[in-house]
Amino acid sequence: MINLEIPRKFEFLVSQAHQVANEVFRSNSRKYDQAEHSYPKELDMLAAVIDGMNEGGALSGAGAGTVGGSSGNGAKADRDGNRNGSNMASLLGLIELCWGDVGLLLTMPRQGLGQAAIAAVANEEQLGRFGGKWAAMAITEPEAGSDSAAIRTTAKLEGDEYVLNGEKIFVTSGDRAELIVVWATLDPKQGRAAIKSFVVERDNPGLKLDRLEHKLGIRASDTANFVLSDCRVPKENLLGSPEIEPKRGFSGVMQTFDNTRPLVAGMAIGVSRACLERTRELLEEAGVEIDYDAPPHAQSAAASEFIAMESDWEAARLLTLQAAWMADNKKPNSLQASMAKAKAGRTATDIALRCVALCGSIGYGEGELLEKWARDVKILDLFEGTQQIQLLIISRLLLGKTSAELK
Ligand SMILES: Cc1cc2nc3c(=O)[nH]c(=O)nc-3n(C[C@H](O)[C@H](O)[C@H](O)COP(=O)(O)OP(=O)(O)OC[C@H]3O[C@@H](n4cnc5c(N)ncnc54)[C@H](O)[C@@H]3O)c2cc1C
Repeated sequence: MINLEIPRKFEFLVSQAHQVANEVFRSNSRKYDQAEHSYPKELDMLAAVIDGMNEGGALSGAGAGTVGGSSGNGAKADRDGNRNGSNMASLLGLIELCWGDVGLLLTMPRQGLGQAAIAAVANEEQLGRFGGKWAAMAITEPEAGSDSAAIRTTAKLEGDEYVLNGEKIFVTSGDRAELIVVWATLDPKQGRAAIKSFVVERDNPGLKLDRLEHKLGIRASDTANFVLSDCRVPKENLLGSPEIEPKRGFSGVMQTFDNTRPLVAGMAIGVSRACLERTRELLEEAGVEIDYDAPPHAQSAAASEFIAMESDWEAARLLTLQAAWMADNKKPNSLQASMAKAKAGRTATDIALRCVALCGSIGYGEGELLEKWARDVKILDLFEGTQQIQLLIISRLLLGKTSAELK
């Protein structure tokens, strides 16, 4: 039997996240869409409440309170050896919060995808220093987007410090986070294996903010460009092994994505569920009847299209739940994580635009959030690896090809 009900231990987390999404995110959605680059101060109080709930164990150590902290699971297996741990909790919480507003979720204090990198590869001492802090992730450079192996930012060991030089662009929460996890190469001649991640404090004098981007969507979230100029960090801030091991290639830094891609897929599931729910209400107000028992030819084109979108959404949701469940159960999930990200990113973008179309001028106007969601959702098919890059990764994994053989 397939039982896809929300595990009972996460019901409280999901209902809390939904309440926050409804009462805090939705009510500030339009405000921070229009006031790009202003800090959503309403989130400070919310972050304090979530911290308190985490300390009290009310959020089961995951989910809304530790969006990025998804590497460990700490969950006990049930009678069938089945675990639902922090990956599943984070995913379920994120889906609810992004039903509220994905831009605000991306700028929640003390969250950020940098924490996923820290959780995946940091040692105990580093976890003590960096755990729980707001951490952004800086991989992309002007000449290195999809091809992260082309990174040019360098890290040179001088005494007890690494000295970082280079440029990083499109860093989510780069202006507001406390820490930035910067990818840099120890030796550009040695390719992928020499790329390591370094934790840089946001107030490090060698890290200079160049500018903030103006964007199509997720305008509540800041996107920063930096120059690293003789930026010195203690050598203990390198995450993972300092050794260059050509055989391991990218595996250290890439581990992060197996945890974060299902979460980004979950964000897409949340935004597109919001689109579907509002569209259903507007269709029903307009007198369109959606009848699940009737064959497609026996109902209106609008109802038929709506049902087709819902089933596509369900497929994306199931893939995403599977990828997170595999991470909790320590099963290798690179393939499923990329499948979930590709399917959810594409499906959510498609659904958001079709919902705008189905609702016509109402869907396109600023009187509804549908037009905003259609702008917000696009990024989820772009960052953490674009649609095309996910398909490439899936093909390589299915065909057993290396990145040199299939590019
Ligand atoms: C709002 C926003 C927030 C972001 N946040 C972060 C962040 O926090 N940290 C960070 O490091 N980066 C971040 N990014 C950067 C993002 O991850 C990159 O934009 C993305 O990886 C694509 O890189 P690129 O823009 O250089 O495009 P390119 O790599 O130049 O790609 C351009 C197009 O070519 C396609 N393409 C590229 N290579 C191939 C191939 N081999 N086969 C087929 N098609 C291909 C791509 O899919 C894309 O459609 C963010 C970007 C945005 C817009």
